[in-house]
Amino acid sequence: MHLVESGVRGSKLQLRQMVLARGIIETGYSTVFIPESFVTGLSVKNFELSGASARKSLYNKTVSTYKPGYLTRQMVYCMQHISITEDDCGSQMYLPYYVDEKNFKAFYGKYYLDENKQLQVITEPEKFIGKIIHVRTPLFCKAKVGVCRKCIGEFYYPFKEVGIIAAQTLGERATQLTLRVFHTGSAISLQQELQELQKYSDYLIVDRNTIINKKQCSIVLETGTILTKKDRSLLKDTLVQLQFEDTTINITLPMNTRILTQTFNNIPENTPLFQIMPTTITNAIELLEKFLSKKIEINSLSELQQYIQIVANLFNYEDVFPQWMIELLSFALLTDVYGKPISVTKDLKLPLIKQPIKTIPHLLGLGLLFETPRKAIQTQILYGISVDSPLKELLYL
Ligand SMILES: [Zn+2]
Repeated sequence: MHLVESGVRGSKLQLRQMVLARGIIETGYSTVFIPESFVTGLSVKNFELSGASARKSLYNKTVSTYKPGYLTRQMVYCMQHISITEDDCGSQMYLPYYVDEKNFKAFYGKYYLDENKQLQVITEPEKFIGKIIHVRTPLFCKAKVGVCRKCIGEFYYPFKEVGIIAAQTLGERATQLTLRVFHTGSAISLQQELQELQKYSDYLIVDRNTIINKKQCSIVLETGTILTKKDRSLLKDTLVQLQFEDTTINITLPMNTRILTQTFNNIPENTPLFQIMPTTITNAIELLEKFLSKKIEINSLSELQQYIQIVANLFNYEDVFPQWMIELLSFALLTDVYGKPISVTKDLKLPLIKQPIKTIPHLLGLGLLFETPRKAIQTQILYGISVDSPLKELLYL
């Protein structure tokens, strides 16, 4: 009792369960009432039942924390070499952003162009709400190695290793968000989305989370929609028009929905069209992992902006992240780990990135695994693996 009252450990609920009765227990399948207490002792069956929630939370913690943990490692690996190397690279390219009430905090400390075309630091971001600002960004930094301070922005505590700081901060956020999902879950929101489709039951059938057409139709996706290469899923919430012979249905498909149909015109009846996936932070992490390891084609500035927005949306769950971290992650994703950053020509056309972005899915062949530089070079010769990494200088010393 003293333990509970002093607030050191436990609660009155736990005392009640010990002395009075275990009470109402969620087992995952049903709700049961256990009249026995820990003092009187539980029957074998009730003991098993009362442990259900504890087992479930243990399982969830084990299963769901390895993903963001691995993601953090991937991000640290892909961003560790980015540091501030110079003060000003003199880049004349700026990324436009629309500042609104949700995202304004993200721009604190960034350099922007004011009306007189002068470079200024944003100290009061709330002043820019409702405006478009042109900011300096690491994506267009001209520094030969790493990035410059003007492109990153000013911090309260000046530090140089921006890559690692950003990676660990983003990774920590991913872990936090995963842990939070234990309480909220996402099955409910998915059900709601599918229930809205019931009113089109003459045209569409919803089978679990798959949408099937009852009559022949054509599909028009929102302009600028990007599908992932591997499983043809949507990168953001997308407006879709289903054109039937006698009617047109507009629906919004949530992020991560898979497009099952191969053709978009004159789709025969009873074709599975879309598969809606629940959008949880775990899905979001999977999406980011796709970014981290698969090729991404970016052809224009608007696509780049869209892409940065997608990355930002993954992390900006309740409060916003400093924009420079998101930009730095995008910069790292668009940069080959070993290679040079993407070159941007004056007409703002980004080259097609054909090479997959190298991350650490398999640590093989990377300097980190080896105990000594000699061993690394030996392995390189033996297996013909290139050790042409940021660690190269270190290895050949
Ligand atoms: Zn720069």
